[in-house]
Amino acid sequence: MPELAPYGREAARFHPERGMPGVGDSSIGGPLLWPADEPWPRCPVRQDDGPHQSELMAMVPLAQIYARDVPGPWWPDGADLLQVLWCPVEHWDPPVGQADMSPVVELRWRRAAELSAAPVADPPEPPEHYEDEYLPKPCVLSVEHLTDFPYSEELPSELQPVLEQLVKDTDPGGKDVITRVAGWKLGGWPTWHLNQPRTPECEACGKRTTLLFTIASDEVTDIVVGRWGELRIFTCPTNHTHPFIADLH
Ligand SMILES: [Zn+2]
Ligand SMILES: [Zn+2]
Repeated sequence: MPELAPYGREAARFHPERGMPGVGDSSIGGPLLWPADEPWPRCPVRQDDGPHQSELMAMVPLAQIYARDVPGPWWPDGADLLQVLWCPVEHWDPPVGQADMSPVVELRWRRAAELSAAPVADPPEPPEHYEDEYLPKPCVLSVEHLTDFPYSEELPSELQPVLEQLVKDTDPGGKDVITRVAGWKLGGWPTWHLNQPRTPECEACGKRTTLLFTIASDEVTDIVVGRWGELRIFTCPTNHTHPFIADLH
């Protein structure tokens, strides 16, 4: 079905396992390779109650991914390390581009060789009032590369039955294993089971964003977002320095 080929996107699905990752490893909830002379990121949202209302909360490491472990089209030129941090509480009035009722997310694209020779910073302790479901257990990753297809309503109408047939042919048991593959992943397509597809546009240039990273709910990492949902990070397809958009589903 060559007509579907343009809609197959590379994805790397992560299979986390509890472990003791180091700063040189790809991980979820592991330590980040972080230069000692760079300030640790803090959430821009001030907490408006509790004993810490005057502090800006230190973010916690969520994921660190090295390009050598997860090669793919998601790496901007020159970057070979992606770090994802978040502020581990719900935010009811989040900054622009962040998801409602979710942790506030921060991304860093880096070149690992520029960091590994320099002293590495110890992260601050997690804030005292974090929420358990947003503090990941340290996990190492194995990675499965696959081709992911979109929800059929994202396709032109004449191709929708073709994709639906391919889903049936792939698994006659009726389990869809080729579209919007679930779990932690880089790349691929987002699921839209709660509402109509509405991929956001880049706020800087207006281009339709693409899915960069999916944070899933699971018992291994101990992360739960939304109602056992997914927090997705969409980025500009042409310029990785344009602001990302986070969406909870
Ligand atoms: Zn916060
Ligand atoms: Zn853009």
